[in-house]
Amino acid sequence: MSDFDEFDAFEAAAAPNATPVPLSQRAMGARPATYLDELNPAQREAVERLDGPVLMLAGAGTGKTKALTARIAHLINTHRARPDEILAVTFTNKAAREMKDRVGNYLGNGGDSMRWMGTFHAICVKLLRRNAELVGLKSNFTILDMDDVKRLLKQLIEAEGIDRKRWPERELAGVIDAWKNRAWTPEKVPTSDASAFNGKGLELYKQYQRRLRELNACDFGDLLVHMVTIFQKHDDVLAQYHRWFKYVLVDEYQDTNVAQYLWLRLLAQGHKNICCVGDDDQSIYGWRGAEVGNILKFEKDFPGAHVVRLEQNYRSTPHILAAASAVIAGNSNRLGKTLWTEREDGEKVRLIGHWDGDEEARWIGEEAESIQRGTRSMASRSLEDMAILVRASHQMRAFEDRFLSIGLPYRVIGGPRFYERMEIRDAMAYFRVVTSPEDDLAFERIVNTPKRGVGDKALQNIQICARENSVPLLEATRILLRDGAIKGKAKTELSKLVESFERWSDMTRVGRVSQVVDDHDDDLFEDISEPDETVQVGHIALAEIILDESGYTSMWQKDKTPEAPGRLENLKELVKALENFDNLQGFLEHVSLIMENDSSESEEKLTIMTLHGAKGLEFPVVFLPGWEEGLFPSQRSMDESGQKGLEEERRLAYVGITRSEALCTISFAGNRRVYGQWQSQLPGRFIDELPEDHVEVLSAASLGTGGGRSSGFDDDFSDLGMSSMQKRAINADGWDTPGFKRMQARQAGGARTSVTPKRKRSNLMVDGDAQELFRPGDRIFQTKFGYGTVMESSRDTLDVEFDKAGSKKVKAGFVVAADRAGDVPF
Ligand code: ATP
Ligand code: MG
Repeated sequence: MSDFDEFDAFEAAAAPNATPVPLSQRAMGARPATYLDELNPAQREAVERLDGPVLMLAGAGTGKTKALTARIAHLINTHRARPDEILAVTFTNKAAREMKDRVGNYLGNGGDSMRWMGTFHAICVKLLRRNAELVGLKSNFTILDMDDVKRLLKQLIEAEGIDRKRWPERELAGVIDAWKNRAWTPEKVPTSDASAFNGKGLELYKQYQRRLRELNACDFGDLLVHMVTIFQKHDDVLAQYHRWFKYVLVDEYQDTNVAQYLWLRLLAQGHKNICCVGDDDQSIYGWRGAEVGNILKFEKDFPGAHVVRLEQNYRSTPHILAAASAVIAGNSNRLGKTLWTEREDGEKVRLIGHWDGDEEARWIGEEAESIQRGTRSMASRSLEDMAILVRASHQMRAFEDRFLSIGLPYRVIGGPRFYERMEIRDAMAYFRVVTSPEDDLAFERIVNTPKRGVGDKALQNIQICARENSVPLLEATRILLRDGAIKGKAKTELSKLVESFERWSDMTRVGRVSQVVDDHDDDLFEDISEPDETVQVGHIALAEIILDESGYTSMWQKDKTPEAPGRLENLKELVKALENFDNLQGFLEHVSLIMENDSSESEEKLTIMTLHGAKGLEFPVVFLPGWEEGLFPSQRSMDESGQKGLEEERRLAYVGITRSEALCTISFAGNRRVYGQWQSQLPGRFIDELPEDHVEVLSAASLGTGGGRSSGFDDDFSDLGMSSMQKRAINADGWDTPGFKRMQARQAGGARTSVTPKRKRSNLMVDGDAQELFRPGDRIFQTKFGYGTVMESSRDTLDVEFDKAGSKKVKAGFVVAADRAGDVPF
């Protein structure tokens, strides 16, 4: 059903004169309200008090969402409202689906008729399509994603002659988004804010809104701001919505921003039947404009509001609750609540320190498997019951790598899994064409990535030629180039690409590769195509060469979007993953096998997601890795928002711990690779705030996993100001002295120093060949450029006419006689 059909249906059903609920249905009476029996008295009160404003302000796991869902069922069951007269705002589309299902279960139908249950954005799109002309748009307006927005802003910035290097569009996008979060149209931006973006922010904002209108487009922020504007300027439209939406319900109210808040207030003004639920301790979207104050002033905004406080927690064990409560007690600006539970004590919250991020990932993988089998203290649990909640998405990769290598099924929520990411698929497509030149699917994927001037038409010609000659696309390209059928930029670029593929394929055929590069991740983005910089390579270095020479790496280096650094980082990780294989082919086979094994959706999987994304969810077993200063709490948050930022981080810790039902494990590592750099880490300050009585400090060695290094620096911690908890966790895992010394040095210096353990320069030279002398006319082999003939030679440099790569200057030390190519230690 299209949006428009849906509107018609909605209108027909919800118009003032619409047919009331059929008598036959009423006569059958309401279904027995089993959903009421499942509630405690306070929840029941919140469900049954259907008229007027209601606020459920309560801690995590107290059944707010459950009560909200029951209230919707009750509204329908008691015929207070039809499903399409209820407007229910959830935090994610997934939450909306779940709520629909639950209401459906309560009422014995599918819950599909809940048309107005969804996120703010999802609901606003539908509304705005109805009223678009009131803000100068047509009803078929397009919604721009962040990429489009930035492209548009870039054009405007350039047209103004502003230096984009100093004033990038990303920053302007942030400024405009923040204004929209406050529902500030250009006319409403206060003069105090007009100096943003070097004084040009407001003018650019005006131009941007004009451009959007010309394009018949809007961005995500507009969806709300436009609706607020319409409600404020058109009383008749607002009155119509008041008649339609008899009841308004909002989950996670503590995270609404000003625009969302205004939108809700305006909508609820008519009948005042608004029910909001939330928890001030779980407000974690301040960085996106959320105002925790909205929930705190609910009673003022809606005089006579009935406030329900829930205190019984049904989700977590007492130890988990105690740990969460102790951490959140560190915040000063809060209402404060007491939570209690009838659940059995269960296991204490577990705390463990690891040597580095890889070890942390290995340990968690083994723990997950052991819990899956059933442990001494816990009956076996499905992987579905387990989640790893990270502070930053870059933490996910260590887990993905580890789980892929041991075949532990997992899903990443909020982003594709590692091998499904665009840049990884692109890179692997290059590798696939190199190892198998007839892989047309892979060729099609990358022939114009980066841009080589190959449009749809050119690709069609290549495909036709391939069909006519029964050859792969790569070969067809070669034929068309030879026949002069490809012109312009495409001709130059494709010639280079075809030659490159030949050269790279040659390199794979020479022999097997042994590990000759051990710090390849450093070199990935260095330009190694300088003639006198040529090196002997293994398959790992070959992968780097392919990514460099194809222009793929530099495509992302030039890309100024916020995702680009992450993509470059992923490419480095990909190259790192090659270490475990003998050659590219072996690696590609491995990946396709895991991907195939993984395709079964019915398989049980462990969940990996961010703490932010985990709001409202619950899992029996939760792992909270990376509790380290700078990572969690996040340095950025603290730098940007000081004490306020720290308090938001602490609320995030509270959200994390309270996701756990039965087992919660917090961990940290002494060393972590962040964007390619090893950094030494200090245990995060929230560890210090955990209550000792409710925490068990684990020793990796005693669990039969982890490093088992000896510690030997027990007393040295006294000077570091660490809590005994931190010390015990560190010692239990046995960090060794160098790690400790680094920590000590950092602590003394006060600044974050970057350390690079296990790192040395690569030695790409072929031993014994450095002194070999070549004469003009000698046939040689060089790994990067393949076979060639020496034209001129000096002591250590050769001019070589390579068979495929043309004339190059190369170091003699990296060259062997052609008949010894097979001896090259690949
Ligand atoms: P959060 O603050 O994390 O969003 P919440 O307050 O919305 O939590 P719910 O998710 O609704 O809490 O409920 C937490 C768990 O407790 C769920 O598993 C729910 O089914 C259960 N629960 C809630 N109320 C009751 C009750 N009265 N009896 C039994 N179980 C309940
Ligand atoms: Mg909830």
